[in-house]
Amino acid sequence: MLKVNNLSVYYNDVLALDDVSLEVEDKVITGIIGPNGAGKSTMLKSILNIIPHEGKTLIDGKDSKSSLDQIAYVEQKADIDHTFPIKVKECVSLGTYANLKLFQKVKNKEWEKVSQAIDKVNLSEYSERQIGELSGGQFQRVLLARCLVQDAKYIFLDEPFVGIDSISEKIIMETLMDLKAQGKTILIVHHDLSKVRDYFDDVIILNKRTIDFGPVKEVFNEKNLKVAYGDSIFV
Ligand code: ADP
Ligand code: MG
Repeated sequence: MLKVNNLSVYYNDVLALDDVSLEVEDKVITGIIGPNGAGKSTMLKSILNIIPHEGKTLIDGKDSKSSLDQIAYVEQKADIDHTFPIKVKECVSLGTYANLKLFQKVKNKEWEKVSQAIDKVNLSEYSERQIGELSGGQFQRVLLARCLVQDAKYIFLDEPFVGIDSISEKIIMETLMDLKAQGKTILIVHHDLSKVRDYFDDVIILNKRTIDFGPVKEVFNEKNLKVAYGDSIFV
């Protein structure tokens, strides 16, 4: 189980997260929602130990820092360089490095996993293409395939559906449902409130502090959304 205890993050003088505490159920898909600048990305980065923070982030009772190999992460698209000259299959194979020893090469067995993952996200025909030639949705599918290869227990996706086509969105969502059925725990930062009921089992509503978290049926309600987004959201 993933737990966040009294997490606070400052960027210089700006308080981005204020004493956030919450729990994420295992083996479900949890959405993280909240307005722009609510600290959603900051929360994932804290669990991943990428940024300095106060408080604790725990996986099965231990500091998440000791289980980073258990987490596959796709950062927010704006932060990724996809002009980098690398083929689709090479990009996906990077997911195997988490499981390889230093200087060990990707072997046939791993290439087989890479090819299966590419197939899973319906990109077999694109395996030899440069990532720079892909559409936004295809590239997002490549990044998900990389997570599949990593075979981590936790999958963190930061706004995976922004600016992508509806076919890619459907393929990604179906793949995530399969991963859930395999027992993976999936955490998705998301801003389109209209999809929350369809996509997520649980939801975390964030605006610098925890507004609420739990099953969508219980916490995704008008009262909580007004606290998070302000009254204007229902006008
Ligand atoms: P969200 O993902 O919910 O949109 P973020 O976690 O990206 O929000 O950011 C939360 C707050 O922290 C925002 O006010 C943002 O401007 C600020 N922030 C995020 N990253 C940095 C950074 N590297 N340096 C300074 N301020 C930052
Ligand atoms: Mg963000």
